[in-house]
Amino acid sequence: MFYNSTRNSDVKVKSAEAITQGISSEGGLFVPESIPELSLADINAIGEMSYADRAAFVFSKFLTDFTEAEIHYCTDNAYSTKNFESESITEIAHLFDGTYMLELWHGPTCAFKDMALQILPYFLTTSAKKINLDKKIVILVATSGDTGKAALEGFKDVEGTSILVFYPEDGVSPMQKRQMKTQEGSNVGVCALKGNFDDCQNGVKAIFTDDEVKQTLENNGMMFSSANSINWGRLVPQIVYYISAYAELVKDGEIALGDKVNIVVPTGNFGNILAAYYAKHMGVPVNKLICASNINNVLTDFINTGVYDRNRKFFATVSPSMDILISSNLERLLYLMTDRNDAVIREWFRKLAAEGRYEVSDDVKAKLSDEFCAGFCDDEQTKAIIHEIYEKYSYTCDTHTAVAVKVYEDYKKSTGDTTKTIIASTASPYKFSAAVLEAIEGGKSDIDEYAMIDRIAELSDIPVPAALADLKNKPERFSDVIDKTEQKKYVLSKLGV
Ligand SMILES: *Cc1c(COP(=O)(O)O)cnc(C)c1O
Repeated sequence: MFYNSTRNSDVKVKSAEAITQGISSEGGLFVPESIPELSLADINAIGEMSYADRAAFVFSKFLTDFTEAEIHYCTDNAYSTKNFESESITEIAHLFDGTYMLELWHGPTCAFKDMALQILPYFLTTSAKKINLDKKIVILVATSGDTGKAALEGFKDVEGTSILVFYPEDGVSPMQKRQMKTQEGSNVGVCALKGNFDDCQNGVKAIFTDDEVKQTLENNGMMFSSANSINWGRLVPQIVYYISAYAELVKDGEIALGDKVNIVVPTGNFGNILAAYYAKHMGVPVNKLICASNINNVLTDFINTGVYDRNRKFFATVSPSMDILISSNLERLLYLMTDRNDAVIREWFRKLAAEGRYEVSDDVKAKLSDEFCAGFCDDEQTKAIIHEIYEKYSYTCDTHTAVAVKVYEDYKKSTGDTTKTIIASTASPYKFSAAVLEAIEGGKSDIDEYAMIDRIAELSDIPVPAALADLKNKPERFSDVIDKTEQKKYVLSKLGV
């Protein structure tokens, strides 16, 4: 299997190169040259495997330059009860008849990003070895909260790597700050920046592309790499859980092999729902892919009209991980839907950069409405649905997942579609305790975040995740706060070069 770039179809690299490079040199994203097919018999067989083996089976189709032993080294290290609080790694909860919550948040940071960030370090170090990149990999991350913590947990103590995370001093929740300041591991660093998320991100980008810094690292046997969601090594692990969930439902007798299901995904960067699209095109029988957004509804409009327009107001919502106006992974979908027409993709994304807007062809519009449905809801509706689900079904869900449930209920009402449905549940309710508590109890409370956790534990029957339960007693290891002008100097001094 080779990988092409969405902006240059002549680029042709193996997965190890796609993963270590992260992004293609002309700015395109790596896409496998074809989509491997699974038969229904394969899917049936997957149901009998452990999660790590399910993942290995899927990866063997995409990472064909990896040996079987290398793939198992990655999957066995990532998907074990050492890192996940669930024997089966993901869980499926039954919400109401024919509606299944695919809980992707039983990993160390209680959000679905662990599903990919637990394995990415192993993919990266294995890939680097395969292409004889005998260098220490330095991961730099700018975070607005969740990605940074998930990357830290993934890379901590992974040999051959070190990781440094920058967050905006006043731009993350107290809980997120504490999670990062108490991070364990011998190869990790965390630093607050006086500025906002964009300052962190711009600084990291500037350091990445600074030739002098690059040379200094090279002279010292190091190289930069990125853990953000455009890396193919973050997308491919997400395909696994959709195939796995379907196989599990067949095994449990909830559906018959070959029955179609809908998949609903609360979406920001379009990574998670794109993984569902891949699962469908590999052979998982899917009726509709339902794309759920919060009030930053650029994707709802795009799927419904074929016009992508980021020229709109940005809203901070109770589902902050979906507060995104540029969904990077959409580029991969459009590349596939234009039959891999790199010239068209270059033109649309040039327009996006220059004017903030592009409109796809009628052919692509038809494909979008054939495969996807889209909807959105605002914060009040998000909280109302959390309340409703709690009262009706004794199920506590987080704000992002709630957006998906609400959009699905609207879809069901307007279409009358009774196809069984999998809803991606992307975070533990403990992670967004303030909004979840407010929704359930019908009013804001002024207790601190630790008390909120205890309160949710009383209300729901979900055990407090060990990682959050321990947090109160963990020593703070990182207290550096720097000015944004000092970021480069700080990185070099932390690396000792
Ligand atoms: C990142 C995130 C999302 C959005 O996922 P994308 O792959 O960016 O679409 C949704 N929910 C939670 C909890 C997240 O952390």
